Amino acid sequence: MLTRIYGTAFGSEEELKEYLRRMEEAKARDHRKLGKELDLFSLHQEGPGFPFFHPKGMVIMNKLIEFWRKEHIKRGYVEIKTPMILDRDLWMRSGHWDHYKENMYFTEIDDAPFAVKPMNCPGGILVYKNDIHSYRELPLRMAELGFVHRHERSGALHGLMRVRAFTQDDAHIYCTPEQIKEEIKAIMELDRYVYQDVFGFKYHVELSTRPEDSMGDPELWDLAELRLREALEETGTAYKLNPGDGAFYGPKIDFHLEDCIGRTWQCGTIQLDFQMPEKFDMAYIGSDGLEHRPVMLHRTVLGSLERFMGILIENYAGAFPYWLAPVQVKILQVSSEFAEYTAGLKKKLEDVGIRIETDLRDEKLGKKIRDAQLQKVPYMLVIGAREAEEGTVSVRDRSKGDLGSMSQESFIDFLKAEFNPL
Ligand code: ZN
Repeated sequence: MLTRIYGTAFGSEEELKEYLRRMEEAKARDHRKLGKELDLFSLHQEGPGFPFFHPKGMVIMNKLIEFWRKEHIKRGYVEIKTPMILDRDLWMRSGHWDHYKENMYFTEIDDAPFAVKPMNCPGGILVYKNDIHSYRELPLRMAELGFVHRHERSGALHGLMRVRAFTQDDAHIYCTPEQIKEEIKAIMELDRYVYQDVFGFKYHVELSTRPEDSMGDPELWDLAELRLREALEETGTAYKLNPGDGAFYGPKIDFHLEDCIGRTWQCGTIQLDFQMPEKFDMAYIGSDGLEHRPVMLHRTVLGSLERFMGILIENYAGAFPYWLAPVQVKILQVSSEFAEYTAGLKKKLEDVGIRIETDLRDEKLGKKIRDAQLQKVPYMLVIGAREAEEGTVSVRDRSKGDLGSMSQESFIDFLKAEFNPL
């Protein structure tokens, strides 16, 4: 009889302690647990792998989208939206039928076979092909928040981290071969800004090359891999090489974020593709008046919005930065005698766009503070007799504690100084 035994060994007592500490820390930060406690999302048997977002989760999701949209408009992207269900022939033409069918869902419309999109590219290509393009329009950067479905085994599903339907913050860039390198560099700069400056993650980059089941001309693959490598080297970006790990249509650069307890998560990707433009006979009119083939870049920054939110929940342990917090300020009213003052204050803060909740329950102040702390609300305002009389607020910070008394105006100014990339 054979019994398989797994073990983990450590070089020193210290390393073991550090490992156990991280395991504890990861458990306390589990996004499924926090998602429930903070009322952000839920999972149901009726939709395995299809998360349900609650009002507070949607505040975070919508703030991420608002930020995403603003950055893309600033960087010369346009936005499109393509259908979720498309004719099966399209997926045969794109190569998904041959290379990706196991992960796709299929359906029928009027007795004809259709597929639910696992990727946004073929739909995006139809938008490109709807017009004749000139070299003057290139690079054309088309972004899409595409809701895609990909089959995962039920055993592999995990909260928001591994799901069967998610929103990709996708974009396809159509350009000339000469423009490839600058476009890749611009995407790398966008990634750096988002990961490092906005969310404070450390990250590293990996380059994946031609897999065994690759599609298309090996010479184009070599060229694509060369361009990616040049962009990495010219920007002085250190990278790890993953031979044979590219997508079936092109090589890629992946971005791996490191969270505050040292785990890494693959998020953004840049894929260079000479194949789809061939398959779909895409063209632009060059300065010579002739038709040329554009190059296509596929890229995401956050990857999946759902998964990125899961990573953020764990990274911040639910204590979202002020700009993302579902509730930014909670008013804790000591007694109902101050109802009028509380209502006026609430209105004033709401008028300047602050997300407010009020705790009007007939409970002890200590309990109200504890509950707001558990909800990880960035600021609490205690309203009692003195505040109502003087027209002030008594401010508590979720991590620093009591900040003392302020006038309503100075509290609003104080909030304006909070980090906010929107
Ligand atoms: Zn794509």
